[in-house]
Amino acid sequence: MVDTQLIPRGIKDQRVLNAMRKVPRHLFMPEPIRPSAYADMALPIGEGQTISQPYMVAVMTELLDLKGQERVLEIGTGSGYQAAVLAELAEEVYTIERIPELAAQSARRLAELGYGTVHVITGDGTKGYREKAPFDRILITAAAPEIPAVVADQLEEGGIIVAPVGGRLSQILVRSKKVRGLLAQEYQVPCVFVPLIGEYGWKG
Ligand code: SAH
Repeated sequence: MVDTQLIPRGIKDQRVLNAMRKVPRHLFMPEPIRPSAYADMALPIGEGQTISQPYMVAVMTELLDLKGQERVLEIGTGSGYQAAVLAELAEEVYTIERIPELAAQSARRLAELGYGTVHVITGDGTKGYREKAPFDRILITAAAPEIPAVVADQLEEGGIIVAPVGGRLSQILVRSKKVRGLLAQEYQVPCVFVPLIGEYGWKG
């Protein structure tokens, strides 16, 4: 996967490539689809949700520019795979999931695999996670109509937020840095994610 999908498409950060070599992606999905675990696509994980395509996980992770000491907030735990990749590269990971069954399953999986620095929270991530804010990095892995102001407020000065922003069906992956309290947009690429549903996201 790393040699055929990620390196040829320009993923360069060796730490990201090593993390994605290490995390057992197949263990983050239901048995019947495990034979396709390393294929070049998003896959269904139940509850109408998906685990992102490996390349998209790599792009988002590379954009976060993790050095190892960061406290990261992920909004949209899904399978827990992205959280595991983040845990390989940062100090502490808080990840929020709105569907209780997915949150419970991911928490169990991450614990079994020894990811003790990942904390899974069940709740509406469109409000961020005030209890542990501010964060050095925030990653939204569901499509947001816009970056909620309360989430932006929970980003540390100089911190980076990566999020798919746009319509319900297609979005632009945006990377912004917080400079003097405001988000300065730095990067964008087209993408498709499942919707971010909640108080400051899409409605139902
Ligand atoms: N990062 C995941 C893929 C995420 S798919 C992985 O590695 O597998 C997007 C997830 O965001 C879904 O599980 C969906 O239920 C969740 N989600 C949608 N709206 C949310 C919200 N307001 N708060 C938290 N999670 C949300």
